[in-house]
Amino acid sequence: MSTDDFIDMRSDTVTRPSEAMRDAARDADVGDDVYRDDPTVNELERRAADAVGMEAALYTPSGTMANQIAINVHTDPGQEVLLERESHVYRWELAGASALSGLQTRTIDAGERCVPTLEEVERGIVEEDLHRPGTGLLTLENTHNYRGGIAVPKERLDAAATAARDAGVPVHLDGARVFNASVALDEPAPDLVEEIDSVTFCLSKGLGAPVGSILAGDEAFIEAARRVRKLFGGGMRQAGMIAAPGLLALENVDRLAEDHANAAALAAGLDDLPGVSVPEPDTNIVVADTEAAGIEAGEFVEACTDAGVGCGEFDAYTTRFTTHLGIGGEDVDEAVDRVSEVVAALSA
Ligand SMILES: *Cc1c(COP(=O)(O)O)cnc(C)c1O
Repeated sequence: MSTDDFIDMRSDTVTRPSEAMRDAARDADVGDDVYRDDPTVNELERRAADAVGMEAALYTPSGTMANQIAINVHTDPGQEVLLERESHVYRWELAGASALSGLQTRTIDAGERCVPTLEEVERGIVEEDLHRPGTGLLTLENTHNYRGGIAVPKERLDAAATAARDAGVPVHLDGARVFNASVALDEPAPDLVEEIDSVTFCLSKGLGAPVGSILAGDEAFIEAARRVRKLFGGGMRQAGMIAAPGLLALENVDRLAEDHANAAALAAGLDDLPGVSVPEPDTNIVVADTEAAGIEAGEFVEACTDAGVGCGEFDAYTTRFTTHLGIGGEDVDEAVDRVSEVVAALSA
């Protein structure tokens, strides 16, 4: 299998920068960003803040760092952070909240809703007293990665966020794919995060930048976040080289609709295969359940990869496929054909 022929749907992080992005990187006006001298980073931070309707923004090397900075700034060591059980921050960030910020985590099982209800948040909040640490932060996620890229509607985010804020607890949104949510819900991103104190989003996923994420919030919050970024080793120098493609990535928001259409076609095609069940996706993440075919995710991913379709194991019988700007309609058709042969071979 040549690399060209491999249909890589492991993640929307696998996209390669366009020629325009490579040109922009080469031609970027740069300076030392730790001294705030890099005009390209400064412009990216301004435009990124506008894109989510926040006062200010900070460019970070990764989404994980952006989330962990936010958690650190919002809280004091020894407090609790309230998380949804299947959230990225809880599942896939190496217990950063405790390792980096000295927090105790308290989880809420929000089930298929992805975001806890107002009542669940109220029950999860701990008031500080002589024996109890107090809740320092609520984090939410949109779109919800583990639940299959679900675009959580504004009403549900608002309800959870309001419950926290009414109790004096700030709210951080892990919006790694917040623009996928915005496009799917036809709701401008600033409206979606109206009741949220800080938001993270990835430039390096569906938006197609080679590297980088954004943390946005109010001026004072971002000022504090800048120090914590330095503390975590994320202060970068002539970062305009990587921020320039990020500026172009911000123009890729509308085209996310293509990824969603491709994901819907992929889901329908895979769902037609015997023993494979795939719910209709909201956005660009497709989760295939192969339990009825008796195919475990581990062997399924391995066989799909051998057949030239990249995907990733999620759980015992569930596998994730992600569409992105490197995947066209014809790739989806070809992927379904290849996976169909895999399913036939493994079910036999
Ligand atoms: C990818 C992702 C992140 C982390 O982003 P990295 O840039 O990979 O560190 C955080 N949250 C969610 C929901 C993600 O999907």
